[in-house]
Amino acid sequence: MSATAPEDSRYQPDAPIKLPPLYAWPPRPRAALRWLFSSLLFPWGFFFIGLSFVAWYFLTPPLAEMAELRPGWVALLWLRNAALLTLVAGGLHWLLYIRRRQGRRCKFDRRWPNTGSEMFLWRDQVRDNMFWSIASGVTIWTLYEAVTLRLYAGGALPVPPLHEFPLYCAVMMIGVFFWSTAHFYFNHRLLHWQPLYRAAHELHHRNVNIGPWTGISMHPLEHVIYFSLFALWWVVPVHPLVVTLTGLYQGVSPAVSHSGFDFVEARGRRLSAGDWFHQLHHQHFNVNYGNTPTPFDKVFGSWHDGSAESLRAQRERLRKLHAPG
Ligand SMILES: [Zn+2]
Ligand SMILES: [Zn+2]
Repeated sequence: MSATAPEDSRYQPDAPIKLPPLYAWPPRPRAALRWLFSSLLFPWGFFFIGLSFVAWYFLTPPLAEMAELRPGWVALLWLRNAALLTLVAGGLHWLLYIRRRQGRRCKFDRRWPNTGSEMFLWRDQVRDNMFWSIASGVTIWTLYEAVTLRLYAGGALPVPPLHEFPLYCAVMMIGVFFWSTAHFYFNHRLLHWQPLYRAAHELHHRNVNIGPWTGISMHPLEHVIYFSLFALWWVVPVHPLVVTLTGLYQGVSPAVSHSGFDFVEARGRRLSAGDWFHQLHHQHFNVNYGNTPTPFDKVFGSWHDGSAESLRAQRERLRKLHAPG
């Protein structure tokens, strides 16, 4: 079905997924800038940047207090992260899966979350996903963030003041979106290596039909790898705002990209949610390991644009890859 089909048939966006104009050759600077602001940053990029300002200036203890790793401030950081994840994942879940405000309109998979399967803790997909996200995901995210902030608080790295280096800070904030997606491609590829897949990543892939709480529903070992992107700020000095954005983007944005819906409808308007590119990874498994802003799948041949033709090409690629001899 297409993006305009009625509620009761299978949903699929109309157009195949395209490479961002940022990578066009010959270069298309105007189209690239338009893509940067309209696709990468609007609305969710700006939302996470705004959230990082609120989180850092209003919901985080002062940096001076973080010179030593103490359970008090680390616990506050954990509570802040858990609350912000719950606000976004829980809000989307409430709107789309409890109230079911738009029924199945724009829903990629017609099924609702699973109950009764032994695959999931308490035989309940949503509760299982919430458990792994909060108990393991938020904890490991918070520990990485706490260690990073402690390095800055202790003077191991300089803090570039915002008023002196506003451009540097802005570039690094936008850089978070590229660093996060590039890091994701390589760590995700590693997690599809059979021993690691069996030990950790299969837990995330139990969710073929995904929802907002699936985003960071992962095995603790996967969380350790997934949140290791903080390590870049152990060598490259940035303002703590960038550190905060890194955590929020890596920890909370998957709730949006795993919402299971292409758009959220609100007051007659459509707000983009979901990520068809990653949805196809959950559906077909050996394609689309990364994200579109850093298109390594295009470079390494695992790019599936959602069309039947592209799926055939991907199946042929895998057949040759696994063919004996
Ligand atoms: Zn995977
Ligand atoms: Zn996923």
